[in-house]
Amino acid sequence: MNTEARGIRFSILDLGKMQCDQNLVVTGSLYATRSCPNKPNRMLDISIDSLLIDVPGYGNILYDLGCDPKGMEEHWPESIQELSPYYQTPQQTLEYQLGLLGLTPEDIRTVILSHMHVDHAGYLYLFPHTEIIVQRREMEAAFAYAFSQLDQENHTLYMRRDISAPVDRYTVIDGDYEICPGVTCIHLPGHTPGMMGLQVDLDSGTFLFARDAAYTADNYGPPSIPSGIGGDVGQYIQSHEKLRRLEKGTGGKVIFGHDWNQWSAMKHAPAYYQ
Ligand SMILES: [Zn+2]
Repeated sequence: MNTEARGIRFSILDLGKMQCDQNLVVTGSLYATRSCPNKPNRMLDISIDSLLIDVPGYGNILYDLGCDPKGMEEHWPESIQELSPYYQTPQQTLEYQLGLLGLTPEDIRTVILSHMHVDHAGYLYLFPHTEIIVQRREMEAAFAYAFSQLDQENHTLYMRRDISAPVDRYTVIDGDYEICPGVTCIHLPGHTPGMMGLQVDLDSGTFLFARDAAYTADNYGPPSIPSGIGGDVGQYIQSHEKLRRLEKGTGGKVIFGHDWNQWSAMKHAPAYYQ
């Protein structure tokens, strides 16, 4: 718990949902057995959101940018639409959700990208005037994967279209990084090389956003169970240990990246946590 009152508040912007095979969300969620060799598999709903953080004396920060609203219509390769279809109502665009708070994209000073996958960098094109903060290793991985493939079907979840949007400037960081007092990026590699969580210190207590370092409470455990999407399992588990230390040290509440149950139980814009 922090002792200094700063008046920071955040609001969760509802950008819709994706669906994804349960084994890709939590590895080994379902497996056939001798007595039940044909168990029916299913897709889970997963939350897609952005976090608006209002920091007195600094300005508005956005953490992650959801999915390209035209992804399912035209921009995404068929393979992504099949693997993880995205559903969004007209009230679940980023512009509409910012509007619930009386804001427009021009009111955002800084965007933080937890990583550059298709469900986190989709609205980058709205922020040509904005500083974008990203981990160096994420930037390298995203551009290497997205631009070294002739065929975007081999996308590894980085969309060339998303990450080539013009921005004011990238602030490329290595490791943990304090944006301003009360808002700190936490490097949690594993899911991707530059995966980045966020610590937000409200006057009421600390929130630790794991993002895709832990899709759901089931991934975080303990024990840690990797998702079926993502790179380095050893790093993934080490990042959970780092997050657990932080959780213990701050008394913070861990918010998972795509946990439909946790997400549904939280307040959304126009409500704030403060
Ligand atoms: Zn994600």
